[in-house]
Amino acid sequence: MNPYQQYMYSYPHKTAYRPLSGVSLKEYAPLLAGKGHGLYLHIPFCQEKCGYCNLFSVTGQGEESIRRYLDAVERQCAQYEKLLSPYAAEFSELTIGGGTPLLLGEGQMERVFDCLKKYFCLEKGREIVIETAPNQTNRKKLEILVREGVTRVSMGIQSFSDQELSVLGRRHGAKQAREALGLIKTYGFPCVNVDFIYGVPGQTVTSLLASLKEALTFAPDEIFLYPLYVKHGVRMERARVVPDAEAAYLQYREASGFLRGEGFRQDSMRRFVRRGGKREFSECGLGTSLALGCGGRSYVGKLHFCSPYAITGKECLKRLEEYEKTVDFTDVRHGILLSEEEIQRRYLIRHLLIYPGVDIQKYESCFGSGLMEDFPVLQDWMEEGWVRWNDSQEKKVQEKGRGKFLALTQTGLGLSDFLGPRLISPGIQKAMEEWEEMYGRSHGTL
Ligand code: SF4
Repeated sequence: MNPYQQYMYSYPHKTAYRPLSGVSLKEYAPLLAGKGHGLYLHIPFCQEKCGYCNLFSVTGQGEESIRRYLDAVERQCAQYEKLLSPYAAEFSELTIGGGTPLLLGEGQMERVFDCLKKYFCLEKGREIVIETAPNQTNRKKLEILVREGVTRVSMGIQSFSDQELSVLGRRHGAKQAREALGLIKTYGFPCVNVDFIYGVPGQTVTSLLASLKEALTFAPDEIFLYPLYVKHGVRMERARVVPDAEAAYLQYREASGFLRGEGFRQDSMRRFVRRGGKREFSECGLGTSLALGCGGRSYVGKLHFCSPYAITGKECLKRLEEYEKTVDFTDVRHGILLSEEEIQRRYLIRHLLIYPGVDIQKYESCFGSGLMEDFPVLQDWMEEGWVRWNDSQEKKVQEKGRGKFLALTQTGLGLSDFLGPRLISPGIQKAMEEWEEMYGRSHGTL
C-alpha cells in the first residue's frame, strides 16, 4: 500500500472545478454577514520555481509586474468592499500566502497592508498569518510585520541539509534558513511555524531527525512535516524523480514519534503543535473564506471558486494576465457549486483528518443524519484500527461542552493521504480524472 496518494488539503480538489456562467458573488454575499470569516491574499511571485512546486506562482517578475498585480488586487478589494458593505462583514483571520509574499519590497508590503485595512474590517483579536522565506526575510520587512500586528509567521525551511535542499531545487541554503529563523525569533511573534519535507531522494531518518533537532533549537511553536509529492507539470517530474514511498513512511513514523516525544501535539498527519501553546484546533469544515488576488480559493457556502488550475510558469502567467484584465470581480467564472452530499463529504474530510476529529452531535445537527449511516466505510476503518471513538486525550474538548468525536488513530493519522482520497465521491473523482487526462495529454506527461 502506498500511503501517499493525495494531500486532501481541501475538498473538492481544484482540478474538479469547471467553467461557470451566470454565477455572481452578489447572491452569496449574505453568507459573509457578521463575524468569523477568513480572508486570504495570494502573492503569486517567487524567486525561482522549486523542483516539486505545483502551487500557483510565477518567477522573474520585476517591480512593474508586481505593481500591476497590486493595482488589480486593489480594484478587487474595492469591489468586494462595496459588495459586503450591507452585511457588516468582519474577518477573524487574514492570511497572506503565496508564492513568496516577502518577495515584495517594503513599500509594496506597506501598500498591501494599507489596502487590506482600507477595504476590510478585521475583528478584534484577529489572526494575521504570513508566509516568509529564508532568502527574503530581513529586519525591515519583519518590522513591518510587527507593526501590522502579524500573529503567525510561517517559514518553508524544508531541510537543514544543503544536499537535500539542492535535490528539492530550493534557492536557499541551510545557512540562510538558520539566519532567517534566528532573526524571526528575535521579534517575538505569538506563533512561529516551520515547514519541513521528508521522502526526499537521498534523505535518511538520521538526516531528517538532524533537521528537526536543529529546528527545535529555535523553539518553534509549530512544525509542519510534508511528504514529498512529485505531481504533473513540476520540474522534478521532468527530471524523472520518483519518491520512495516506503522510505518516506518510515521517516514519517520516526519523525512524528520524535516530535510527540519532544512535547508536540500531533494535530494531523502534517501539523505538530507545541503543547501548552496558544493554538486551538480550528473549525474548518463549513467556514467561509474570501480570496483576493489570483490563485487563491474562495469558499462561500456551496460556491467554491478560483482561477483555473495552473502549474507551469506559462500557464500561471496567462491566468495572471486574465486576472489583471478582469473588469467585474464579482462575476464568478470558474469553480464548483457543491451539492448537499458533497458538503457533507467536505465536512467529514476536513474534520476527520484534523484533531480532534468529527463531532458526532454537531454533524447530526448540521445535516440531520448520522455520520456512521452516511459513511458506512468508517465502520470498516474502525475494524482496521484506523479510526476510533474519542478517549481521554480529548477530555479538554469535551469539557468545553462538546460531544463524542470520531478521530483517526495514530496509524490512521499516518495514512491520511491514503484514507482521505477514499472519501472522494465518484462524481468528483471522475472530474479529477478527466482533468488529469486532459492535462497529461496537453503536456505529454501521462
Ligand atoms: S514551493 Fe513555495 S517558494 Fe517554491 S516555487 Fe512554490 S510557492 Fe514558490
